[in-house]
Amino acid sequence: MAEIVLEQVSKRFPDGSLAVQDVDLAIADGEFVILVGPSGCGKSTTLNMIAGLEDITAGTLRIDDRVVNDLPPKDRDIAMVFQSYALYPHLTVRENMAFPLRLAKTDKAQVTAKVEEAARILDLTQFLDRRPAALSGGQRQRVAMGRAIVRAPKAFLMDEPLSNLDAKLRVQMRTQIARLQRRLGTTTVYVTHDQTEAMTLGDRVVVMRLGVVQQVGTPAQLYDLPINLFVAGFIGSPA
Ligand code: ADP
Ligand code: MG
Repeated sequence: MAEIVLEQVSKRFPDGSLAVQDVDLAIADGEFVILVGPSGCGKSTTLNMIAGLEDITAGTLRIDDRVVNDLPPKDRDIAMVFQSYALYPHLTVRENMAFPLRLAKTDKAQVTAKVEEAARILDLTQFLDRRPAALSGGQRQRVAMGRAIVRAPKAFLMDEPLSNLDAKLRVQMRTQIARLQRRLGTTTVYVTHDQTEAMTLGDRVVVMRLGVVQQVGTPAQLYDLPINLFVAGFIGSPA
């Protein structure tokens, strides 16, 4: 598990646009933090910088006290879950979930044990020999989660993982993700533009606008004491 600390982190894209500006954020070991804000406010860019998929153009990123600004993604011990499930269509559920372990050259018996454990946790045992095309959207999303948890990474980063699901399934999966996170206790940063998701899922919520963090707090703090009209309006509390 990991502590993740951003100090004055900014991202300027080569075209000159400043997508993320001076973000200060300390995420505790085991914490479930939500990044929320309207489309284009810099949520994905922030997540991608933590993952190492985008480089940081100013500031410092630490994972467990180590500066990781220049560390490649594969050395960060972080698992990313995207909204497009990015499953391999030609591989079975079992093979999809085993994939990161095979890359890490884990021995066969261990791979089997870990995949089966993850399948149990995610209620996928009966689907292990199917291919993704024969699964529902919710089942596919669970396989994507399974692929993230088999490695027991230090942290999970999730970018709108439920946005491809219909409303009913989204609510179900939301509960499952919250339960999974509590059970594993893995530090999680979860991006969404959905206010309800933001206010029900995590320990703390980071509200962003135009690349700038507006407020960080528990859902109760944001409801009770929104720092400005934007936060009040965005989370839907009376200003
Ligand atoms: P969000 O995930 O909150 O919707 P993003 O982090 O994807 O927002 O984008 C933040 C801002 O950065 C947006 O204005 C977007 O257009 C811009 N942006 C994202 N990726 C690039 C890129 N590769 N080059 C230039 N601008 C980008
Ligand atoms: Mg995004």
